[in-house]
Amino acid sequence: MTGTDSIRSKVVVITGGARGIGLATAVALAKLGAKIAIGDIDEKTVKESGTDYDFDHYGRLDVTDQQSFTTFLDDVERELGPIDVLINNAGIMPTGRLVDESDQITRRILDINIYGVILGSKIALTRMLERRHGHIINIASLAGETHIPGLATYNASKHAVLGFTDTLREEYRGTGVEFSSVLPTLTRTELGSGVAAPKGLPAAEPEDIAAAVVRLIAKPKAKTRVTRAAGAMSVFVNLLPQS
Ligand code: NAD
Repeated sequence: MTGTDSIRSKVVVITGGARGIGLATAVALAKLGAKIAIGDIDEKTVKESGTDYDFDHYGRLDVTDQQSFTTFLDDVERELGPIDVLINNAGIMPTGRLVDESDQITRRILDINIYGVILGSKIALTRMLERRHGHIINIASLAGETHIPGLATYNASKHAVLGFTDTLREEYRGTGVEFSSVLPTLTRTELGSGVAAPKGLPAAEPEDIAAAVVRLIAKPKAKTRVTRAAGAMSVFVNLLPQS
């Protein structure tokens, strides 16, 4: 069996999968025969994506709500069978100086970008440990390894995702459950449009990140960084105005 053959029939849950990186990943995995469950807070976009691409399951999911996450995973398992892979992808990236950020926005970033990842991992892991099989993939960011002005709370959330994922890998070593993080560079999506693309160095396409996730599922690794061109990251770091 080649690497990507192993993806066929895997049940993969993608949070925030109605558009952007999540949707591109869903499409790439569906083409390889995976059973795809998309969960997203944006019901309208979920419905549209469900119509365009014949995914196996799509529905409303708020990653910050325990009941919503549990019900979603229950529905998926009832319809498609045990979850093989959970991709914690949902995220938001409001930009601006910290002193101008409302407390509501600060909490929302942390709620979705880190609490949602912890919550989803906890619920899925409990099920995966019983079967001694599973893979949790957390979409972090290169921002999780750097310090980008204008994105302090977002950067903090992505540093936290990396620390969280690395800790789970240690804590559950030998249990049959794998943990990986993906660190995309600036990517051309609605979220990425909040930041200008570096001149001469194209932002990544969602399909670039999707391809990295596919490789990760075929052959689990701790971490995968996705950049489009050598040096892209340093340009990305310098992108935001220093104030
Ligand atoms: P996007 O805005 O295109 O898509 C994000 C999706 O998450 C949307 O469909 C949105 O409705 C959904 N979502 C938001 N809150 C949710 C919630 N509470 N519950 C469920 N779904 C929710 O963004 P994207 O660029 O595709 O980003 C996907 C992930 O990749 C994020 O974690 C982001 O931080 C990360 N990332 C993106 C970039 C980039 O430049 N685009 C770079 C590095 C990392």
